[in-house]
Amino acid sequence: MTTSEQLFKQAKQVIPGGVNSPVRAFRAVGGSPVFIKSAKGPYVFDEDGNQYIELINSWGPMILGHAFEPVEKAVRDAIQHSFSFGAPTRKEVEMAELIIDMVPSVEKVRMVNSGTEATMAAIRVARGFTGRDKIIKFEGCYHGHGDSFLIAAGSGAVTMGTPDSPGVTKATALDTLTAPYNNLQAVEMLIDNNANQIAAIILEPVVGNMGCVLPEPGFLEGIRNLCDQHGIILIFDEVMTGFRLAKGGAQERFGITPDLTTMGKIIGGGMPVGAYGGRADIMNVVSPAGPVYQAGTLSGNPIAMSAGLAMLRYLNEHPEVYTRLEEIGGKLAEGFRAGLVKAGLNYTINQIGSMFTLFMTDRSVSNFADAKSCDLPLFGRYFHAMLKRGVYLAPSQFESLFVSVALTDDLIEQVIQANEESLREAIQ
Ligand SMILES: *Cc1c(COP(=O)(O)O)cnc(C)c1O
Repeated sequence: MTTSEQLFKQAKQVIPGGVNSPVRAFRAVGGSPVFIKSAKGPYVFDEDGNQYIELINSWGPMILGHAFEPVEKAVRDAIQHSFSFGAPTRKEVEMAELIIDMVPSVEKVRMVNSGTEATMAAIRVARGFTGRDKIIKFEGCYHGHGDSFLIAAGSGAVTMGTPDSPGVTKATALDTLTAPYNNLQAVEMLIDNNANQIAAIILEPVVGNMGCVLPEPGFLEGIRNLCDQHGIILIFDEVMTGFRLAKGGAQERFGITPDLTTMGKIIGGGMPVGAYGGRADIMNVVSPAGPVYQAGTLSGNPIAMSAGLAMLRYLNEHPEVYTRLEEIGGKLAEGFRAGLVKAGLNYTINQIGSMFTLFMTDRSVSNFADAKSCDLPLFGRYFHAMLKRGVYLAPSQFESLFVSVALTDDLIEQVIQANEESLREAIQ
């Protein structure tokens, strides 16, 4: 038994499913998860001493590679002054100023501790601001584990959603309407059928959570227009895309201005940080400026802010990071496509900048139904073939890969080679 297997066995006795977040358990790909001991630059190392090339990077945050020195130094400097005060600090002001400087639509911002907190707060604020109860989300988009988001699509765009997890009440489900991604008509229909009741539309401007799915031309503009026409708050969930697809996120890249933006992952440099921000008139309803309550004992924590500030400052001052990320993403996608051709497969690759997914399906993938047509057992075999060759992928077909600038051209070649071999092994 490997050390990872031994630890997993122990973990299952004391932690539900052996993990603190479900996808880590490898259920979607089979087998036993790898327990990570350390990481540096482009590599992670497991408890058994294996080394892997990193293509998830903690689901995004380690965009500059693991244990990136400026971030590490900022944390080391900060811990000498105690770890938490529960009182305002200079760093929170600097952090807010920097976020506002980097993210086009943000005029005021509130720090929280996770992406989940950010999205839960953002919809509360949208409801408080509009005085309306319902929200629209898209099938296959993930916005954290808040009750309002754990809603499955009903049968057809006109029906209400149903709870997607035991413990979410039917009453909650009534307030969350779902539409297929990239389907403007479905959204229009929901709005017409619920006139003056929709507080917010929330979406991933580029989806990372059903695999990488891009908005079709006109989709984001169309949603923006519908929100304007009907007094609906547009929330871009940029927990994944923020500070990744451009320093100002997807909104900068696509030139669409949401009313509110939720952030997470990269924003903490690897520490537990989230944020939500946007139009000043909307953010001014947040307590204590306004009546919508939202709080956090550890929000704006000084160690977390130090890591996040060091990360965002570096990204803000080094535009070449984004040029390199485009290059890396492009090279990987090209190499993976060549691998597919060699294996005689006609599968789909979606890629934008440093986000990409190889979907095990012939269909082009522009929504969740398309993504669900993938050959999942094949993906499981492919995943393990890659792992065996020292490449650490997200352990599910329905995830995007997130590369870091620590990937050198040599490592990219190694990954492309591993992909070719793994595809051949998986289809046998
Ligand atoms: C990861 C993610 C979240 C949830 O963030 P947590 O920090 O895991 O709570 C929300 N929205 C999107 C788009 C995400 O990718």
